[in-house]
Amino acid sequence: MDILDAYKFCPICGKPTLKKENNHLAQCQTCGYRLYLNPSIGAVGMVFDDKGRLLVVRRSKEPAKDTWHIPGGFVEVGETIEAAVSREIKEELNIEVKAEEYLFSIPNSYQYRGIERYPLDFFFKCKIIDMSAMKVDLSENSDFAFLPPEEIRLEDFGLPSIKEAIKRYFHK
Ligand SMILES: [Zn+2]
Repeated sequence: MDILDAYKFCPICGKPTLKKENNHLAQCQTCGYRLYLNPSIGAVGMVFDDKGRLLVVRRSKEPAKDTWHIPGGFVEVGETIEAAVSREIKEELNIEVKAEEYLFSIPNSYQYRGIERYPLDFFFKCKIIDMSAMKVDLSENSDFAFLPPEEIRLEDFGLPSIKEAIKRYFHK
């Protein structure tokens, strides 16, 4: 189930009369308040070094623990997706990157505590501005590597949306 099935109480009038109308809308049968389900925005950076190698990180948590991953995270309220890419990669690896080119978006879904969530991941090609203090944040990832295109294997990536991005970018 998604969050529209889980919510019963209207956040405006407080009555237990929220009713799911379709896959993106629930409406309160008492006051008419409309609650929309929108995708959350994921900002993902395909970072390349000056030799054309792709920066990958190894996931330290489930889902897809220990597989290669591409760094990124959720966009915060008031933030651009480009700024979110830089912020997330700074948090994960302590490097400065700049999102140079929008590549594509891939809809994603996963369960959190039994509730289906629907991120929409935006992929950007990024260049490195400064990696002199590079250090992996171990709370999110256990390792990182720069992979030359010929060493990128689809089966080493775990999450479906990341596999799809690798496939699309490298035409594998
Ligand atoms: Zn209401």
